[in-house]
Amino acid sequence: MSTINQSGWRPEAPQSGASAAPATYTGNKALMLEEPLLFEIGDAARTGVDLPTPPQVASRLAGLERHKPIGLPGLSEPEAVRHYTRLSRQNYAIDLGLFPLGSCTMKHNPRLNEKMARLPGFADLHPLTPVDGTQGALALIDLVATWLKTLTGMPGIAMSPKAGAHGELCGLLAIRAAHEAKGDARKTILVPESAHGTNPATAAFAGYAVESIPATAAGRVDVEALKAKLGPDVAGVMITNPNTCGLFEPDMIAIGEAVHAVGAYLYCDGANFNAIVGKVRPGDLGVDAMHINLHKTFSTPHGGGGPGSGPVVFSEALAPFAPLPFVERHGDRYVLVEEETVAEEGHSDAFGRMVAFHGQMGMFVRAAAYMLSHGADGLKQVSEDAVLSANYILRSLENTLEAPFAASGPCMHEAIFSDEGFADGFSTLDVAKGLIDEGFHPMTMYFPLVVHGAMLIEPTETESKAALDQFIGALRSVAERAKAGDAALKAAPIHAPRRRLDETAAARKPVLVWKEPVQAQAAE
Ligand SMILES: *Cc1c(COP(=O)(O)O)cnc(C)c1O
Repeated sequence: MSTINQSGWRPEAPQSGASAAPATYTGNKALMLEEPLLFEIGDAARTGVDLPTPPQVASRLAGLERHKPIGLPGLSEPEAVRHYTRLSRQNYAIDLGLFPLGSCTMKHNPRLNEKMARLPGFADLHPLTPVDGTQGALALIDLVATWLKTLTGMPGIAMSPKAGAHGELCGLLAIRAAHEAKGDARKTILVPESAHGTNPATAAFAGYAVESIPATAAGRVDVEALKAKLGPDVAGVMITNPNTCGLFEPDMIAIGEAVHAVGAYLYCDGANFNAIVGKVRPGDLGVDAMHINLHKTFSTPHGGGGPGSGPVVFSEALAPFAPLPFVERHGDRYVLVEEETVAEEGHSDAFGRMVAFHGQMGMFVRAAAYMLSHGADGLKQVSEDAVLSANYILRSLENTLEAPFAASGPCMHEAIFSDEGFADGFSTLDVAKGLIDEGFHPMTMYFPLVVHGAMLIEPTETESKAALDQFIGALRSVAERAKAGDAALKAAPIHAPRRRLDETAAARKPVLVWKEPVQAQAAE
């Protein structure tokens, strides 16, 4: 077996400074194992399986058969298994510890949901199976849809959108269809300054001009500034509630009335529904369309780009424009409406389709398992506990970190702090890097933009008080170092497999193609 050093891989150069440990021969740090790329440990001459020599048959490829090796690395079975196991150990995960990320709801996902999602009757169902063979799956989609409509107090729903941002697009396309049905071609969507980046991006993608609404000093939408921007050209207003500062928008009803008075629609970004589920029905606040991130509020492990599911609930006014397909119950039977139906069924104005099939079936199963295992009272407890956990963090740290909105009352499901009071030259980034040494994934940083050096922390309802106390202790200790100007913090993380990486260069100039070291050296 080749050793990693023969393959051209080198351990990271020893770090200078008091904290740097001497480099080991392997580059490993005790049980934290270094791992080169698959191409560096693999060898085209090796394989994990013994294939019989193929029989000599006449080629039917008309001279198009490949003669050169295809360049894939060959590995024995244990080499392949170890490679991926070692990589997985370098990944922080919700099953390892608390994820303080705000604007994300990284909660524990009950294993029961996973078991249900893997039931062969759901997991192996082909999307083109005739509806006579999919009655159970359609009943489940209808069940989740009914819960979501009940919890939000809204009569219409589109289950198919595949993420929060996709749901936003679905909502805006329904708003546009509703205006077009009245022969009204409005061009502008208003979005608060503190909105998640997907809101203005979605509005622009849907072809709207985006105008931003300022925030008040208390971190809420400035209602007077919003009213001043409302007019006959405004198609809709996108409000996040609870907003991205972790605060409830108390003027939502007044906002809805003002928006409706100029003939526009109120879109609500419902990604933060985790904080109010079972307590507030957005339909009662005048919302016309709202997406719900099933992967945030109703469980499903996520991160790293998927999976997601963003059903959209609609008011009476927008429901007829909701996209196809949708499930309908006719007596004992469920039908999947795939084409525009006659006007009296109330769906003749569907704006089109968002996806090829019916949505994320696996996530519907997880959401159904989550809803049924919690029950209505349990879901209400979820939001109460999520809000309690966030307020515990806010109040425990407000004497250490500046909490810009702490004076205006309790927060919702996330707590926000600024970098005020850090020593010269110390920033939120240093605190994040220090948290890595403490064994935590950093919080959301520099978002929302309305708070300087923002640290947005969402503990969720699934963390114990002991886990919260440990996180609070770690953050307090790192924040004190930033305030005291502890130079050693500038070098953090010192215990991680890698130090401070150039994340911007990694994102802007990703190296996606492996080159053989010999060639790479020749090119240097
Ligand atoms: C997560 C989030 C979104 C986007 O949802 P995706 O599923 O990631 O597309 C939009 N708005 C807010 C407030 C969010 O937290």
